[in-house]
Amino acid sequence: MTDPRAVLADLLPTLRAFAIPMPTRFRGTTIRQGAVVRGPAGWGEFSPFPEYGPAECARWLSCTLEAAWAGWPAPLRSCVPVNVTVPAVGPSQAYQIVAGSGCLTAKVKVAEPGQPESADIDRVAAVRDAIGPDGKVRVDANGGWQVDQAARMLRALAPFRLEYAEQPCATLGELASLRRLVDVPLAADESIRRAEDPLAVRAAGAADIVVLKAQPLGGVRSALAVAEACGLPVVVSSAVETSVGLAAGVALAAALPSLDYACGLATMSLLAGDVTASPLAAEGGSLPVRAAVADPAELDRWAADPQPWRDRMLAAAAHLSAVPW
Ligand SMILES: [Mg+2]
Repeated sequence: MTDPRAVLADLLPTLRAFAIPMPTRFRGTTIRQGAVVRGPAGWGEFSPFPEYGPAECARWLSCTLEAAWAGWPAPLRSCVPVNVTVPAVGPSQAYQIVAGSGCLTAKVKVAEPGQPESADIDRVAAVRDAIGPDGKVRVDANGGWQVDQAARMLRALAPFRLEYAEQPCATLGELASLRRLVDVPLAADESIRRAEDPLAVRAAGAADIVVLKAQPLGGVRSALAVAEACGLPVVVSSAVETSVGLAAGVALAAALPSLDYACGLATMSLLAGDVTASPLAAEGGSLPVRAAVADPAELDRWAADPQPWRDRMLAAAAHLSAVPW
């Protein structure tokens, strides 16, 4: 049995903190902060969001240690299809984002506060036009619709043949109600923060698909176990990490027994920089299955004070009793 605290003590001297600007506001901030460490298996990222306390951070730390110390399960595929994400922009910009992406699947943000419903319909129409009849179009409301509104909007969007609707409503109860009203499959994203959540989603009949992320679920092995226990199809998504963190998501997607949906891992474009000189960026609609190696010059360029991150990792480690490797 590996003692995660001993592993962390070994890795801490390699810690480098980063602060990378984001051109577009995400979760109320325009800077992505975190740390990377290097171990015998490679680099691992630790980048829980600022408001997360030590108990929640413990899962993110488990992912970090797995990446740097244990490495990931063997991949079952050599590349992972990814979606392009279309923010709540106007239709002509939406068309250009999709047409220039090379992706065969597009995720369209809808239910943006302050925008009329017609803006969502126009944006989805432009995306369907840009991606062509064989492409796939999904929408993500980030929980922004009430049940009635979601049912109305999903019916209005039906002509554009949605692959699925991600988190159309906020709660499990609302999702379950909506699911009985519409034919389009529903995916749960924000409803899943902890390992037990996908099981609750399934038990509530709240979704057809679960969106899983490697860091919040405690790493690749933990997320694979969650996927198996849940039994629903999985879409692997990122927590908007650098390429070092994205590589864990890619490893998860590569190790899933079946991968029926393009993944939400093409998020490097949301950051103004990266800790590696060869970012995990989508090419031809997919990401290669490989590790990411931090580069000294990039680490210097985006360097931040490491002490708060050392403290956060040590506090998180106090909540880590066992790790699955
Ligand atoms: Mg989402």
